[in-house]
Amino acid sequence: MSDKPEKFIDENGLRLDGRRVNEIRPMKMEIGVLSRADGSCYLEWGKNKVLAAVYGPRELHPRRLQKADSALIRYRYNMAAFSVEDRIRPGPSRRSIEISKVSREAFEPVVLTHLYPGAVIDVFAEVLQADAGTRTAAINAASMALADAGIPMKGLVSACAVGKVDGQLVLDLNKPEDNYGNADIPMAMTADGEITLLQMDGDVTQEEFRQAVELCKEGCRQILEMQKETLKNKFTKLEEVEISDDEEDVDVSALVESTLESLEEDETSENDEDIEEEIETDDVEDAESGDEAESVEEQEDSFQDVDEDDIPEDNDEDVPEDDEETA
Ligand code: ADP
Repeated sequence: MSDKPEKFIDENGLRLDGRRVNEIRPMKMEIGVLSRADGSCYLEWGKNKVLAAVYGPRELHPRRLQKADSALIRYRYNMAAFSVEDRIRPGPSRRSIEISKVSREAFEPVVLTHLYPGAVIDVFAEVLQADAGTRTAAINAASMALADAGIPMKGLVSACAVGKVDGQLVLDLNKPEDNYGNADIPMAMTADGEITLLQMDGDVTQEEFRQAVELCKEGCRQILEMQKETLKNKFTKLEEVEISDDEEDVDVSALVESTLESLEEDETSENDEDIEEEIETDDVEDAESGDEAESVEEQEDSFQDVDEDDIPEDNDEDVPEDDEETA
């Protein structure tokens, strides 16, 4: 672990990684990265790398855990053994259990769980590389994975931490700030600024706390924009793929042209014919098509009406030839 830096913010107001106090680390995300999950997101934030997967809504087993009037959200935050410098012991720890709990609670106010009584929505957040702020990174990724899975929500949840170093509030702590700073306040909130997660480690005054909430809102607003942009991009790409696929399979313009040509030909030939003859033909055609429609309907009705029990036993006698053959 690196030593405590003497100063976190230089005389130009720049932090150790060159950011201003109100700047977040570069973030990028991609959704739909796992084919077996109902929704997924891979997110990089600074040096953090997180993968989130959502399964459900699906039936919850064991059934005694089911909630009669709503779906249950399960959230599992896990740090991969190789995600930090020193290998982490695999399996749940006090820290990961706590983070899983508060992260689940961050989503409970926004997910419309009442739509799926008895079901479960499983959210898995796997930290592949950790560098401070992994719970907030995981929440941002989980929010996108839930949206990708089409889970109805009041809105997206965005998360970010505010801390205090050198007596100043800073947005989105980096590793030295997280390790040696005076405060670490991770928050998650909806687009309306409703706070769904708030934790605090360290000391801040009441006034600093108010400012921290405002600073965090600004960070979450920026993250929300990226989240919305990612969702929009996915839909735009899907449209493009659909159009290009169609063009590959069917030459639409050629199809339209040939249809128009055949219509023109039909019109010309119809004009040449005697009108009386045309009426007669139309009548016959109408009658035929009517008959056809009726006969199709009749067939459908007869399929619906036939019940296995209704088949007379005599019918069995109609099959002896086959039986004999088989025997
Ligand atoms: P968060 O990642 O949400 O900021 P913490 O404040 O608990 O959560 O952790 C800060 C950072 O410390 C993590 O992002 C990670 O880089 C590191 N860290 C956390 N737990 C461990 C651990 N068991 N071993 C090594 N490093 C850890």
